[in-house]
Amino acid sequence: MNYLSTRGGMPPTPFTGVLLEGLAPDGGLAMPETYPQIDAATLDRWRGLTYPDLAFEIVSLFVTDIPASTLRELVRDTYTAAVFGSDEITPVSELEPGLHLLHLSNGPTLAFKDIAMQLLGRLFEWALAQRGEHLNILGATSGDTGSAAEYAIRGRHGIRVFMLSPHDRMSAFQTAQMFSLQDENIFNLAVRGVFDDCQDVVKAVSNDLDFKSRWHIGTVNSINWARLLAQIVYYFKAYFAVTRSSAERVSFSVPSGNFGNVCAGHVARMMGLPVSRLVVATNENDVLDEFFRTGHYRVRGGAGVKQTSSPSMDISKASNFERFIFDLVERDPDRVRGLWRDIDHDGDMNLAATPYFARVADFGFRSSRSTHADRVTTIRRVHADFGVVVDTHTADGIKGALEQREAGIPMVCLETAQPAKFADTVREALGRDPERPARYRGLEALPQRFEVIDADADAVKRYIAAHSD
Ligand SMILES: *Cc1c(COP(=O)(O)O)cnc(C)c1O
Repeated sequence: MNYLSTRGGMPPTPFTGVLLEGLAPDGGLAMPETYPQIDAATLDRWRGLTYPDLAFEIVSLFVTDIPASTLRELVRDTYTAAVFGSDEITPVSELEPGLHLLHLSNGPTLAFKDIAMQLLGRLFEWALAQRGEHLNILGATSGDTGSAAEYAIRGRHGIRVFMLSPHDRMSAFQTAQMFSLQDENIFNLAVRGVFDDCQDVVKAVSNDLDFKSRWHIGTVNSINWARLLAQIVYYFKAYFAVTRSSAERVSFSVPSGNFGNVCAGHVARMMGLPVSRLVVATNENDVLDEFFRTGHYRVRGGAGVKQTSSPSMDISKASNFERFIFDLVERDPDRVRGLWRDIDHDGDMNLAATPYFARVADFGFRSSRSTHADRVTTIRRVHADFGVVVDTHTADGIKGALEQREAGIPMVCLETAQPAKFADTVREALGRDPERPARYRGLEALPQRFEVIDADADAVKRYIAAHSD
């Protein structure tokens, strides 16, 4: 299996060649040359597999340049009950007949990003050891991504994490989750500024190509192909959990920001998983909902991003969206390049009057949009009707699921975070705090390890240089 760039400027490259990279050299995103096709007989065979065995079957179709025995070991070491709370790894529960919740947030940081990031940490460690190299991961976070990356890489050889976050602006829980890590390869930099300042510093450091290569700077951002790959697995796992025969179809509703999670569902569908609808659920930051309703994709620009109570979906543009557009335009890289030229130039692309937009529904995509009031209503309703407490992001997904459900087709809502992570809105909806998993009680009282730093690229560069070798 080789990978191509959505913009056509990368020679066919095997998995390990794209594993440690962000963007392709031409600014595009890595895509598998073809989608392996899964027939009904294979689905029947996979139906009884454990999560790690299923993950190995799927991942090994896309990773042909890591020895199978190594890959199997990495996958098995990643997906354990000790890390994810149960042997099922991603259990499915029933809210009512035909409406299900796929639990993706039982990993170390209580959000679905752990599922991909935990595998990524092991793959990175293995690949770096093979090459005799090391890597300094530099990132900016306002919450979920940074903590998932730190928990995946803590204690691993050959990798350090330098994570910038806005000083005093994350929730006490999120701050404690990151800053309580005492591992020597984890560096928390609390930046005097807001999240955008953190991101600007990361960009400035990454744009200094000499510094970047001298200090082996890398990222773990959401366009990384390996992250998307790891997320394909649970679409299959959930399908098996809610069907009895591989002739049945299932729909999924996915709380979406950068389009990574739902894009993994798209890939699963392209591989032949019998999917009816993929509901792209957004919050007030509705770039994607607007596209799926109208064919017009309008990036919002930094100032246009609204701060919402489902903050992990607060985005101005959806970085993985280019992957779907590549498939939509029949994998024509010239077309993708042209469309992204429009976006870079005018901030938008409009497919409304093209034959492409007419084909969007053929891929199963539907969309929805939620407001803060919708989230509060949904959290209350899900609690009253089903006795289940969900977080704000999951609530956005459930709203979309209820709007887009079809008779006779099971709808699976992806639970992307634990309510304990977003306690304020849950308290507003239910009048009490969500329960916190036992291992996180008393988290805020643990000693914290972090450095306060100015929003200044040179200061961050000096810090990295002083703490690397
Ligand atoms: C990251 C995140 C999302 C959005 O996922 P994408 O892959 O960026 O679309 C949704 N919910 C939670 C809790 C997240 O952390």
